[in-house]
Amino acid sequence: MMKINDNFLKLPGGYLFPEIGRRVRAYTDPKMPLIRLGIGDVTQPLAPAVVEAMKKASAEMGTKEGFRGYCEEKNGAYDWLRFAIANDYKSRGVDIADDEIFVSDGAKSDCGNIGDIFSVDNVVAVCDPVYPVYVDTNAMAGRAGNYVDGKWDNLVYLPCTAENDFFPALPERVPDIIYICSPNNPTGTAATRAQLKVWVDYANAHGSVILYDSAYEAYIQEPDKPHSIFEVEGAKTCAIEFRSFSKTAGFTGNRCAYTVIPKALERGGASLNALWNRRMGTKFNGVAYVIQRAAEACFTPEGKAQIQSTIDFYHENARIISDGLKDAGLTVYGGVNAPYIWFRTPEGYGSWEFFDKLLYDACVVTTPGAGFGPSGEGYIRLTAFGGRDATVEAVERIRKLLK
Ligand code: PLP
Repeated sequence: MMKINDNFLKLPGGYLFPEIGRRVRAYTDPKMPLIRLGIGDVTQPLAPAVVEAMKKASAEMGTKEGFRGYCEEKNGAYDWLRFAIANDYKSRGVDIADDEIFVSDGAKSDCGNIGDIFSVDNVVAVCDPVYPVYVDTNAMAGRAGNYVDGKWDNLVYLPCTAENDFFPALPERVPDIIYICSPNNPTGTAATRAQLKVWVDYANAHGSVILYDSAYEAYIQEPDKPHSIFEVEGAKTCAIEFRSFSKTAGFTGNRCAYTVIPKALERGGASLNALWNRRMGTKFNGVAYVIQRAAEACFTPEGKAQIQSTIDFYHENARIISDGLKDAGLTVYGGVNAPYIWFRTPEGYGSWEFFDKLLYDACVVTTPGAGFGPSGEGYIRLTAFGGRDATVEAVERIRKLLK
């Protein structure tokens, strides 16, 4: 008789966003039109340079000379895209070889799939609160243990709260795999070089590996914040970095991302770059040619300028939310180097209670901090990815509610 992977049965009642969706659907007759600032999906259209590149590439695919089948170049991606990515790193003083770059259909897939190359015995550390994908994929693989009283008993939780500036302290139990997300989803804060250096030194000293998710690096505005962990000395022997075009260039529906695994990163005598290459070659057939061309267009001068103007638009939304909530008396974090605003719920409200209050009394859909981990209790996340009118209106409604 076939046996299932019963780690799946240990997962608690579904991913966070379906639960939010359930509560929203249950509110069948809202008193005002709902404004959704919950899920972190983008709303602004693709940059014209990206659209042009897709049109051109589609037309090529319809010709005998321009048709492309499977991509047989290195790491499943065309040289021109890997070179463009490597150049982007170079512009920040980081030297990444083109064969250290793996292009994929999403940072979500990569953050989850990377576990294929790690033993199930590894001890995993996650920040708390955290992007739920790191936790759930490790639970599915059997690395998280059992879910008891709102926590996985074999994960090392690294609390990140206002008390430690949303950056984790080194834990007592030494983890083998450490997930760090900066700029952070959900707290909206970004790590400094000095903060990352502590973890890089720790990982090198203990033979751990840092899985660094910088899906939001394009939102960093403060010059002292690194965009890549490879800006930190020593990171090439202990870190893997995930990046994505999703939030950088509105590719959530296009699907394209990349992962950097330095060749200097070895564990147990094996190159992690070689293992990932083997894994990708076996389980993945590459990103569509049209989408790789679209991604390449993000690095052209026009593409860069157009993408930046959309990022500026979201930054302005973040400022409107941040200022408005502060004015309403809330304690607000994030929003400067990330498209997320993280605020404390008013006295007497838990995350889900205040989520319900905002839903029912202001008709604004948010994300309760508790859904990102135990230390997210007492916080709410808002996204800056909405349209301008919706953002302004949502802030106005929350201000009125709290008056
Ligand atoms: N990493 C983080 C921290 C995210 O918040 C998200 C999406 O919300 C992703 C990765 C997913 O990126 P992608 O769309 O490339 O799969």
